[in-house]
Amino acid sequence: MHIDASWTLFLDRDGVINNEIKDGYVLSWDMFRFEEGVLTALPALAAKFGRIVMVTNQRCIGRGLLTEKGLNDIHANMLEVITAQGGRIDKIYHCPDIDNDSPCRKPNEGMAVQAKADFPEIDFSRSIMVGNTLSDMKFGKDKGMTTVFIPSTKPDLPFPHPLMDYRCKGLMEFLEIIQ
Ligand SMILES: [Mg+2]
Repeated sequence: MHIDASWTLFLDRDGVINNEIKDGYVLSWDMFRFEEGVLTALPALAAKFGRIVMVTNQRCIGRGLLTEKGLNDIHANMLEVITAQGGRIDKIYHCPDIDNDSPCRKPNEGMAVQAKADFPEIDFSRSIMVGNTLSDMKFGKDKGMTTVFIPSTKPDLPFPHPLMDYRCKGLMEFLEIIQ
């Protein structure tokens, strides 16, 4: 895949950027652990993609386990580390809702629509969604994006798969398939 500044990268968070907590949530910064290679890969991705946005379901807020401020604090810390390493995330979208029917909860399109409203130059046919669930893959495919599956928490999902264009162990391997 040839990527230039006309392309947008959509990144899921848990299981892609940081270790997903099994049967739980990242509820504070001290529970946040970057996935291996992420801090090395992000600066290289920042140099290729015109925009990088994060789209993350955070049902823990709807469940009352974390406040909006608590999530913002985690993200401020995360961005500080990423930026200090030369990486970049232009905007973070999160869905706090519990209900799978919520328009902003992946795989529903709300966060993609919001990103397009904020950055009208986003072209979904020149966008890549990287995530670790079928919900992420459907979110991307429904908007016509290229999808990249990271098998961090679901290593047994079959590939090839109709919702997955590529399968990469992590962001470092993802870097290898783009140029
Ligand atoms: Mg995830």
